[in-house]
Amino acid sequence: PMVALTFDDGPHAVYTDQILDILEEHGAVATFFEVARNLPKAPEAVRRAADMGCEIGSHSYRHANLGKMDQAAQQADQAAADALFQEVLGTTPALLRPPYGSMNKTLKTTSGRSIVTWSIDTEDWRSKDADKVVTGVENAGNLDGQVILLHSIYESTVAATEVLVPWLLEQGYQLVTVSELIQLRFGDQVEPNRTYNYDYFRFQVPPLPAETAPAAA
Ligand SMILES: [Zn+2]
Repeated sequence: PMVALTFDDGPHAVYTDQILDILEEHGAVATFFEVARNLPKAPEAVRRAADMGCEIGSHSYRHANLGKMDQAAQQADQAAADALFQEVLGTTPALLRPPYGSMNKTLKTTSGRSIVTWSIDTEDWRSKDADKVVTGVENAGNLDGQVILLHSIYESTVAATEVLVPWLLEQGYQLVTVSELIQLRFGDQVEPNRTYNYDYFRFQVPPLPAETAPAAA
């Protein structure tokens, strides 16, 4: 069983590193959907995340509502974002999480990226309450194959992450990046101009291979 933790809206000058400390301590990875214009606030943290095996996706240049833009505006946003990702990481992200989950057909078919939303929304931005975030995930049922939405810009989310990472591991989940989840758990490919959304993660998880029977005594 696998889960992908995702952290949006960073990087944050303090909290991104604190989240990475927690992941590192537990040998776990996550995916960070960064707002490109925030990259200069914590470029070292983003490079550290990539070095740790975390995945860095784009969350647009300035948290734009891409679903309300035409192709020219979408591509301008992406070019501005890519320039900063290139500067900080030496690469451009394969994954795009559109802010607000807002997208239109143009974005889905012409961005050249794999568009990824989520399947478990912790609403950490709304409650800013670590206990509520933790309880929400703990009570969300079977999390195998799920993508959990968090934000790397709240102290409460760092506190929730500190509880959730060891709890998820204790429950037997492997913490993987979004691309790893798609490839290893769904046996699928991460393809450009394709959308991996709520329905995908929620309802298309393949059954796990049958447990190997214990050896006879
Ligand atoms: Zn966002």
